[in-house]
Amino acid sequence: MQKRLTLLGSTGSIGDSTLDVVARHPDRFSVYALTAHRNGDKLIAQCLRFTPEVAVVGDADTAARVAAALKAEGCKTEVNYGVDALVDVARASQCDTVVAAIVGAAGLAPTLAAARAGKRILLANKEALVMSGQIFMDAVRDNGAVLLPVDSEHNAVFQCLPPCADKEAKLHDGVSKIILTASGGPFRTCEPSTLVDMTADEACKHPNWAMGRKISVDSATMMNKGLEVIEAHWLFELPGSRIEVLIHPQSVIHSMVSYADGSVLAQLGNPDMRTPIAHALAFPDRVDSGVAPLDLAQIAQLTFEKPDFKRFPCLALAIQALESSGIAGAALNAANEIAVEAFLARRIGFMAIGEVVERVLNALPNRSAAALDDVLAADARARCLASGFVKELIASAPGVQPIAH
Ligand code: NAD
Ligand code: MG
Repeated sequence: MQKRLTLLGSTGSIGDSTLDVVARHPDRFSVYALTAHRNGDKLIAQCLRFTPEVAVVGDADTAARVAAALKAEGCKTEVNYGVDALVDVARASQCDTVVAAIVGAAGLAPTLAAARAGKRILLANKEALVMSGQIFMDAVRDNGAVLLPVDSEHNAVFQCLPPCADKEAKLHDGVSKIILTASGGPFRTCEPSTLVDMTADEACKHPNWAMGRKISVDSATMMNKGLEVIEAHWLFELPGSRIEVLIHPQSVIHSMVSYADGSVLAQLGNPDMRTPIAHALAFPDRVDSGVAPLDLAQIAQLTFEKPDFKRFPCLALAIQALESSGIAGAALNAANEIAVEAFLARRIGFMAIGEVVERVLNALPNRSAAALDDVLAADARARCLASGFVKELIASAPGVQPIAH
């Protein structure tokens, strides 16, 4: 049966890769809704090509502009805007599959709505899960939703785990640990003293992957891997002590599962998000993703090293937040979003990202995250604290020239 998709965040990097795979298989996939924030021009082009029933943008002006452009081309896509409209397309009965590819906390409301509506969810938006952890997983379980990881590491782990036929069975008998690989980002080998002067463009020059700017900076600080440790904890129900991070600069092994009998299963492939996206879209089938076959003889060498927590304090902070549990994940994520935004706007330096996150985690008393309101309150409080720390840092380092948003 053809799958009908809502693609949240269609104008981003994951959105692009998803539509590329979808376009290869018009018999298997069709598009019910596409959503963007401000990039109206790109959304218009996507709507003309994929003719969704609904398109959603962030504000009324963009909606009016997109609607007028589509009407002029004879395209019947309905254009809405705002968070409620995002939630509507995520839970609409006309779609069965939701690709969660909005960046950051903004993705939480529609992704959670998709879980509550029992959808098949292809999760790229790790921040939503890091924030809401147990609440999100409970919503998936209680409403019969299906959660398929798109993040390449988690998709790799998912592929290396035994199929779980009996939902009541212990999920991972025999799994001793999972090993999340990490490229180490663009600053893996640079002289540590040069890190303070690294610019946004340098941080976004990832050696292996082309991604949005926020996740690129997260890769440079290795906060991305920290968020992924928390993501793995929730997805695979494993404690942090059984989730290892291993630097693998070639990004060919996307992650591994280590079993009690000494077997280690790995998933390999070229670093191209179309592979995990195609896997999750077609699961349990396998379809062409457009990714070139892996040529190991040409790659010749796969190397590994332990992460350097001193160079990458954000990785340690994320692991600490997982150990703290409660609202710490939401606080970590919110503080990081504010700090990364300030770094991308050239308001603070690269090393200040970890500093802001650490100060927020220390300043915010931890408490349980039993209800969504707890999570949202922690998110708001952490953003407020982080913005204050950013201002303090700017005041203490005059001369840094901010750029306009
Ligand atoms: P991106 O910046 O390229 O795209 C983000 C998308 O979210 C865009 O469509 C944008 O319009 C939308 N968006 C941004 N702010 C929004 C808001 N406030 N409300 C509604 N929509 C909003 O990001 P990306 O690289 O595609 O990453 C998307 C998500 O996937 C992130 O959570 C990231 O961590 C995760 N992810 C990305 C990759 C990758 O290779 N790019 C890999 C693994 C996981
Ligand atoms: Mg990843």
